[in-house]
Formats: sequence, structure tokens, C-alpha cells
Amino acid sequence: MRHTEADWMRFNPFEGDFGDGEKVLADKIVTAAKTHAGACLTCGGHVAVGERHRARTEAYNGRVMTFRFCGECCDAHYDWLRGNELPLEERIRLRKANVA
Ligand SMILES: [Zn+2]
Repeated sequence: MRHTEADWMRFNPFEGDFGDGEKVLADKIVTAAKTHAGACLTCGGHVAVGERHRARTEAYNGRVMTFRFCGECCDAHYDWLRGNELPLEERIRLRKANVA
């Protein structure tokens, strides 16, 4: 972890997306109680048991969904906010490799 959890939260992962009625129920840094395989929305990697990561729960169209971002990606999100885009580009490249 290169940045603080408060800094992680400054990034809005869905800025410019949706915007048609979804409601954020929870958005916070949590400790994984179990491994979430392939769960990180940014890199497509695992969130390991015990890992501090971001979990954002939204209600949309009668469904409740939780989106997770691993710690490495949360660091990259904040780098991007500060004008350093390279770490996030690297994480997104990982996603293409993980999901392919
Ligand atoms: Zn990730």
C-alpha cells in the first residue's frame, strides 16, 4: 500500500458511467473475509483473504451489486488522480490478460 485508505476513497471509480438511477448503498475500505476470485473490477485479479480493498455496493434496477477493487488498484487509482496515469494503465493491461 503506497497511499492511505483515505486517499484511495478520493477516486470515483464510476465517474461518467451509468448515471441513470443507481444508488450507492456502501462504499468503503474493508478487509476481505474470504478470497474473492477474479473480483477486482480494474485488474480482474483476486482479492485475497485479509486484504484491505475497496467494496462499493450499489442498488440498480432492483438488484444489489458489490464492486471490488484490490489494494494495488486503489493505489493506482490515486496515482491517476494525481496525474500519474502509468500505474493504472498497467493495472488495466493486467485485466485484459486476466480476463482473456
Ligand atoms: Zn485490482
